[in-house]
Amino acid sequence: MKIGGFQKSSLIDFPGKVAAVVFTQGCAWRCPYCHNRALVYPSRFQPSMPVEEIFEHLLLGRSQLDGVVITGGEPTQQCGLMDFLRRIREMGLLIKLDTNGSNPGMLTSLLEENLLDYIAMDVKGPLSEYRRFVGCEVDTGPLELSIELIKQAKIPYEFRTTLVGGLHTQEHLDQLAPLMYGVRRYAVQTYRMPPSDFRSQPPFTPPDVSLFHIASEALRDRVDEFLVR
Ligand code: SF4
Repeated sequence: MKIGGFQKSSLIDFPGKVAAVVFTQGCAWRCPYCHNRALVYPSRFQPSMPVEEIFEHLLLGRSQLDGVVITGGEPTQQCGLMDFLRRIREMGLLIKLDTNGSNPGMLTSLLEENLLDYIAMDVKGPLSEYRRFVGCEVDTGPLELSIELIKQAKIPYEFRTTLVGGLHTQEHLDQLAPLMYGVRRYAVQTYRMPPSDFRSQPPFTPPDVSLFHIASEALRDRVDEFLVR
């Protein structure tokens, strides 16, 4: 496991739970608006934290925690992920996984071994234009597989789209809507500008509020629960 950061507790990252947050290092994608570039670009990596240090923190905070969020970067590309989650399970903690959906094989293994209690998958935009949203060539077949796997999962989940000013349009949201048909929870969230040294040039901006209304019209009636963050 390559771990680039650890937050002892959070009230907002695991719905309804108090959770520690583990930030894994590394992601194969290059979303131009990525907020976590220090976890994506190897040249920006800090020395990775020893796994044992994470478990020391978790043991110390155990009585105050409901669970742990594994985020990134992209956690499913970590080869030690399953062992890491097994150890968290043995501590009796709940586990939430944040993922970009690029590794349905890993998702399958984690679900089969009952190592997840909540999954949040980013859906960046319509699959037909995914390259534009993730900054590199991407095979969307695995993404469709991940979406189907998560839809069928017997645990709580959400799909979420970060709306970015200067990138997402009404057409994108209209195209995205059929993909999200019938999902239990779908959220649109606002892009927040990162610190100036992490901004793209020219910088993206938070979206106009009208884009949230457009998203609501396109998606609210297609999903069980529609959230705006
Ligand atoms: S998938 Fe997530 S972590 Fe990876 S580049 Fe995109 S926004 Fe950043």
